[in-house]
Amino acid sequence: MANSIKLETLDLEIPVPESLIFHDEGYLNAYEFYNKICNFRNGRDLRMLEIANLGFDFGSEYGALESYIKEENGQSKKHIHIYCESAIKDNYPLNQFVKGHEETHVLQPPLVNGYEFLKQKMQKIGINPLDLTKLTEEQIAHIGGLTILTSQGVSINDISSQKWQTLIKQAPELIASTNFQTALCWFLKNKN
Ligand SMILES: [Zn+2]
Repeated sequence: MANSIKLETLDLEIPVPESLIFHDEGYLNAYEFYNKICNFRNGRDLRMLEIANLGFDFGSEYGALESYIKEENGQSKKHIHIYCESAIKDNYPLNQFVKGHEETHVLQPPLVNGYEFLKQKMQKIGINPLDLTKLTEEQIAHIGGLTILTSQGVSINDISSQKWQTLIKQAPELIASTNFQTALCWFLKNKN
């Protein structure tokens, strides 16, 4: 039986083995997300020590992906969960960028192995995707986010673009990060 998952913001439906289960958790805060995963995996809430061991201050990340293998009725299932931070729910265009970013992480070879689908999307908006996989996984996720913004009419790296200026104001540290800047340069260089 053919099985598929739907990536909402990338607007992709991708065939996957039946052993792969995708959970788009939507907007949550970080504690809610990691606690939900702990309940899925272990059937209980996070313990204080585990919260401490997560090692970040809640509210500092915009979204994340968690994956794990779980034995269910004698079968190994691979679960993939993504979420976006509820604090950015109404912050357009950052919310669209982050959702596209996390969905692109789902495509990585050890999970869904679907970068080819992203490449087709990129070609449709005039980006040459040929050497995409020379980038790191985090940079490719940024490319996914930039692809979403471009397909929604955001003029990337255009200082006269209101939406681009809004994104910089919403996430100055993200935009200034080396990974983002590397992805942005690659994106502009490969734009027709
Ligand atoms: Zn990422």
